[in-house]
Amino acid sequence: MSATLELDCPICLDKLEDPVVTPCGHLGCDVCIKKYARGSSDPYEATCPTCRAPFPIVTPDMSIVPKKYHPFISPPLRRVFPGNDAGDSSRAMIEKLKGQITTLQGRVGALKRDKALLIDRCESANSALARLTEDEHAARMARDQAKDDMECVIQNIQKLKADYKALRSR
Ligand SMILES: [Zn+2]
Ligand SMILES: [Zn+2]
Repeated sequence: MSATLELDCPICLDKLEDPVVTPCGHLGCDVCIKKYARGSSDPYEATCPTCRAPFPIVTPDMSIVPKKYHPFISPPLRRVFPGNDAGDSSRAMIEKLKGQITTLQGRVGALKRDKALLIDRCESANSALARLTEDEHAARMARDQAKDDMECVIQNIQKLKADYKALRSR
């Protein structure tokens, strides 16, 4: 890159300043090429100061060009090194990415909160289930106890009946 910067402008014969490239691939200072193109005898075309290849010096009025063709239209003279435009677009890109990062961080936070909520719900459901199991166990114990008591009572009644019969038969 720095080697290219050492090149001289074909117009001012000085070191290139804000170099631009013509469609034929020749370099010149932005100011020199534009001044040179303005001096062209043809109002629509200029010839390259290096190789004499013609290039258009008017860009179409974009307001009358359908938008779908805009990406295909580029100015005849293009900057060779990223100037302020590129800087601006990369800064815009950085800002955009920063925005995306903030959005994603927000989403991660929301997901973390959701996860905590789900864990809470899971835990309370688990403890409810444990309580139910305990209750069920207690109910089964009580039922078994009642059954035992009932059997005991029946046995007592039978014993009493037997005793009663024995007493009466005397
Ligand atoms: Zn120059
Ligand atoms: Zn040329």
